[in-house]
Amino acid sequence: MYDQLTGRYTFACPARGEVRVTLSRFRILERLPGSVHPAVFKVTFACDCDAEHEGLVTHEELDWAPLAGSELAFLNLMTARLEPAGADLLDLAAGRIRAGVWPWSFFCYPEERPRPVTPSAFRVLSGGERELGLAVECPGCSQTSVNVVSEEHVDVPFYNDRRVGVVEHVFALDRERALSAFRDELDSGTFDAIRRDLAA
Ligand SMILES: [Zn+2]
Ligand SMILES: [Zn+2]
Repeated sequence: MYDQLTGRYTFACPARGEVRVTLSRFRILERLPGSVHPAVFKVTFACDCDAEHEGLVTHEELDWAPLAGSELAFLNLMTARLEPAGADLLDLAAGRIRAGVWPWSFFCYPEERPRPVTPSAFRVLSGGERELGLAVECPGCSQTSVNVVSEEHVDVPFYNDRRVGVVEHVFALDRERALSAFRDELDSGTFDAIRRDLAA
């Protein structure tokens, strides 16, 4: 469940009951086979209790809830009534997308170009002090690139780092075999990243 006002997803924690985490606290995203309507993703997230747990989110919660909100109401000052804001926010988001501003983007290393993306294409995130390693499976070429980005780049729709770190390596993100090895590599933070412009 996504909360538009706080920009957080609600999950269960065995120690604390219910916790709310931002997208940048996600660590692994795996689309569950077989689930199509809606597509469901298993998410491993870094919890406030310092452990990692798994939770489920739908495709819509990942890609659209941050733009539209799921339960958001706002006080309309003209009518003095609480009204749902989802449709207005979606209109606003659609307008910005038409104007060429993308809610999320990354730099595809094999293609040597920035590309728009949505969170369901994120595969692995590594925690950092201020920067995150973000592995994205490119919707264009299906290759996996690793960018080094700010937390805001992940958490705030329509906020994109002007420059990101790009790891000069094409990753074979083979689900079963490579995920944990890949993650160890990402967490070790030993990647050499070149800087590339996302914004013109
Ligand atoms: Zn926990
Ligand atoms: Zn690509």
